[in-house]
Amino acid sequence: MAVNDMVYHSGYRRMRESGTVIQDIDGGIARYLKYFGTESNYDQAASAYRENNIRTLLDEICTEFSKYYQNEVKGIELINRYQKGICVSAYTSQIHPVIYVDELFESTVTSFLLTSFIWSEFQENEKIWGFAFSNMLYIFHEQCILGEMISEIALEEMLRLVSEMDSHLFTLATDCYWSILAFAMSHELAHIYFRKCGRISTTDRQIRKEEYDADRIAYDMVLRLIMRDAKKPEKERTFYEHTYLAPMMLMEYFDLFYYTDRVLYKQWVDDWTHPVPMRRKNQLFGIVDRPEYQFNTEEGNVLYQGLLDVTDKYYRPNLLIKMQKGKLDSILNRKRRTERINEGR
Ligand SMILES: [Zn+2]
Repeated sequence: MAVNDMVYHSGYRRMRESGTVIQDIDGGIARYLKYFGTESNYDQAASAYRENNIRTLLDEICTEFSKYYQNEVKGIELINRYQKGICVSAYTSQIHPVIYVDELFESTVTSFLLTSFIWSEFQENEKIWGFAFSNMLYIFHEQCILGEMISEIALEEMLRLVSEMDSHLFTLATDCYWSILAFAMSHELAHIYFRKCGRISTTDRQIRKEEYDADRIAYDMVLRLIMRDAKKPEKERTFYEHTYLAPMMLMEYFDLFYYTDRVLYKQWVDDWTHPVPMRRKNQLFGIVDRPEYQFNTEEGNVLYQGLLDVTDKYYRPNLLIKMQKGKLDSILNRKRRTERINEGR
């Protein structure tokens, strides 16, 4: 439409049209039922999905955001495609604001949580240990660095193992993922809100400051949602107290992604405008300690500590040793890695 041509920037077009949509909702529900479903049939599971999905989550966040920050945010378009990016981003136009969530982000973050949780619970189990290390490498190398979507075989294998060993881990991972998605979308809403208030960041310093401010708002949102839901009956909750450190898990995920890239391809992320994940994580810890946030933190601490345990004690050092011994040479794909840099990952 001609009007679109006038108001839509090329960035919006790219967001809307590049890549593909590969999610298969029916297939996903059937797979969920096969391994974890508590619903008795497909129709029940499909109706649960209609009530709780990424779109309903964004709507809920917009409503709460408007309330908490006394500034109405509405009419946000959600674009959810596979563009091989590890990102959630925003198009901050006030005429037509958009939040973009890459399907690859969704897939890799959930796999990362599931893998960390099963690894942490069954560290002594050799079979799980072997699976978890290779799966973690697969997530950060094939998926995050090279941009591939998880293969059907890898997905089935992971879900089967989790359902056999401890299906509760699936619920924990989904709960944490939901808080991560809420955090990531609230961070983008904050950028849209700043633009609405007339804030323009142009220098590196201003851009960096805006990133920290967006994180602060996003984490405040997540913590308020958790406290709100803690008062509700269990069945009506969306956000749980044990997910209160989920945004820090997201920072670990980014840090491990960059770490894997450094070890495998000697690639150093050099971006002065975006604070490194560990700095962002430190700021988040400073926020949650404030007295206004009061809830039960016990299970959340155990979950987070378990995730740190396996990533710091096992994944990082073993990746380095295997690389130094030349055991990972066969998986490296320098050509594809270079193409990805040129695609502007
Ligand atoms: Zn940002």
